[in-house]
Amino acid sequence: MNDEPELRRDPVTGRWALVAPERARRPIALSGHEPHGLTNGERTPCPFCAGQEHDTPNEVFAYRAPGTTPNGPGWQLRIVPNKFPAVRQPVPASRPDESGAGEMELFTSAPATGSAEVLIDCPEHVDNPTRLSDEQFGAVFRAYRERMAALAADPRLAHVAVFKNVGAEAGASLGHTHSQLIATPVVPALVRTEWDCAAAHHARTGRCVFCDIVERELADGRRVVARSAHFVAVTAFAPRFAYETWVLPVHHEARYEAITDAATQDLAVLLKRVLRALDVVQHTPAYNWFLHTSPLRAGAPPHYHWHLEILPRTARPAGLEWGFGCHITTAAPERAASELRAAEAEPERQG
Ligand SMILES: [Zn+2]
Ligand SMILES: [Zn+2]
Ligand SMILES: [Zn+2]
Repeated sequence: MNDEPELRRDPVTGRWALVAPERARRPIALSGHEPHGLTNGERTPCPFCAGQEHDTPNEVFAYRAPGTTPNGPGWQLRIVPNKFPAVRQPVPASRPDESGAGEMELFTSAPATGSAEVLIDCPEHVDNPTRLSDEQFGAVFRAYRERMAALAADPRLAHVAVFKNVGAEAGASLGHTHSQLIATPVVPALVRTEWDCAAAHHARTGRCVFCDIVERELADGRRVVARSAHFVAVTAFAPRFAYETWVLPVHHEARYEAITDAATQDLAVLLKRVLRALDVVQHTPAYNWFLHTSPLRAGAPPHYHWHLEILPRTARPAGLEWGFGCHITTAAPERAASELRAAEAEPERQG
């Protein structure tokens, strides 16, 4: 057996899974007991800090001061290939056929090719993204856009998963705030499910389900956490975890890559408000945020609407969640939203 990562398709549900033995070698530096990234046991010096550029693979993208050299100091944000990738180059000549038109093998697998990249948010050792400046936070969202557009140029790729793990319990292996971009030749299960259900809603009603959600939530107000010029943050109506929050563009936008610079800045400021409130209400929980947007080859359909989901680890999934996909939460989303709104309205706390 070799250790090459592999994509495998579940023969019953069609869900794609990654089998990546080499990932076992990545550093897990954070204490598993602390919800947030305490530096206890963290690698010193931190490979993501300024001055340690030699400790990461060569950058594929950066915002840096004019006249500075790639892979040296002078950067504000860097994107580097993941040292412990779940997928790898080169991408195969063609993508697996997911249309269902062709007969699929019962046990379908393919080399897990694509790209796995790490976006280092800032050169300073910051472990909580709310401590980034508004400018730094906005740069993260602009870099997502630039890098997704660059990866889209490769016709063999079908999807880019963009996400952030904050805290050991949410899967972060290093505390220094960073995001990941994983491009694959297949579309992951959750995006496919959302896509199919949204298409069915559109076929039935002629409307985008996300536009409907935005309209209803704004009219109702009970689950609205915060609102900005371009976005609204709401607690999820049927959450997986208590305080699960979605951020959606208020006007229909199928693809994240179409976001303007002004909107990235607006998103950054809004998200910081929401995350600060979450830190106050849930005592700096571990969480993931992830971007759901139209797959790379899907155009800009009327039925799908990009959004960001924030999933705080406010509970430990158990049998009902893992075995049946049915989540139990203890805080009603309406109460969660009112707590977040109250915390959000307080003056910024120090520290
Ligand atoms: Zn660092
Ligand atoms: Zn929409
Ligand atoms: Zn989603």
